[in-house]
Amino acid sequence: MIEILFLLLPLAFYSGWRSAKKSNSKQCAESSKLADDYVRGVNYLLSEKPDKALEVFINHPDVDEYTAETYLLLGNMFRNRGEVDRALRLHQNLMARSSLTKDQKASVLFALGEDYFSAGMLDRAESVFQELLETNPKDVDACLPLRQIYEQTHEWEKAIQTTLCLKRKKLSDAHKKLISHYYCEMAEQEMSFGNLHRVDEYVLKAENSFKLSVRVMILQADLLERKKNYKGAFKIYLKALKQDSRLLSYLYSKITKVSAIVGKDKELESILFHLYRSDSRVLSYLLAFISRNGNKDVSVDFLVDDLKAKKLDIPSIIKSIDILQNNTDIFPEHEKLLLIKQSLINFLQGEAMFQCQNCGYKMQDYLWRCPACYQWDRVSQA
Ligand SMILES: [Zn+2]
Repeated sequence: MIEILFLLLPLAFYSGWRSAKKSNSKQCAESSKLADDYVRGVNYLLSEKPDKALEVFINHPDVDEYTAETYLLLGNMFRNRGEVDRALRLHQNLMARSSLTKDQKASVLFALGEDYFSAGMLDRAESVFQELLETNPKDVDACLPLRQIYEQTHEWEKAIQTTLCLKRKKLSDAHKKLISHYYCEMAEQEMSFGNLHRVDEYVLKAENSFKLSVRVMILQADLLERKKNYKGAFKIYLKALKQDSRLLSYLYSKITKVSAIVGKDKELESILFHLYRSDSRVLSYLLAFISRNGNKDVSVDFLVDDLKAKKLDIPSIIKSIDILQNNTDIFPEHEKLLLIKQSLINFLQGEAMFQCQNCGYKMQDYLWRCPACYQWDRVSQA
């Protein structure tokens, strides 16, 4: 509620100032009504009666350039609190006022567009932001929400045009990346329809928009795979993986498929092993790859050491159990259990033991009150 006080403070000063400035009795009466309405409205807000407060503000007949600013912010506050219906009512009411300046009308229209967007009324939000752009083509603020609308509706060509409207002199790398992603989305769409020549076209445009895109690289490899150029596809998948090992989960099935076709499993295994040395999350994929190939003679010495000493993730521990089961001759049964127990102890080290059921906040110790959402009795074991 503190934000309400700060928000409406300027209005309090203004009503007092206006009362002091105006001399004749009619104007004094108007100022007094503004002050009364203000106090009543704030009282309703502070006592959690936002609908009554809204009625007071909406029914107040006199909205001038100063009070309009405050009402605009009040509507935005309602929206930020998730009360979009109230924000819409306030902003729509404000829009209908004849006393607004041209700039204020544009601000209220923008706020209305944001209200529609928050309410999921994307068609209305789009027409509001389009109207703002038509009135003022230099209004780049309207481009950002428009772009977000087109991303949600998957209208990639329009998203590209809207991103281009954001530029003033030169496109930033972030904008180039975005445009590249939009072309990649179009390429993937065409790939699903089997229109490979269109995929070629969009991949080229994506590459021209942002040269360093790993996504473009992967699409190029996908395209080669669809054209049965498995050797070329394997080479590019490998390059993409070396450039960004975070993509392994996305690339795993693609790259293992082509490596089997071109007989490059050994090379891939050594690459995965190399990546595992710098990122332990690679282990589950490395072990899955070893198991897939039924490679029983693979040395698991490194695995035993790492299960004892490293903090591995659960998928890696599960895959390790598979590997240990397949290597019965090299490791006694009772030692396997001790090894798995140790790896689970390692995993739990540093992990949060408790979690708020309301907001998901994790913590080490049990707390009666969640420090993130301030709810009582909502913490339980994670
Ligand atoms: Zn919480």
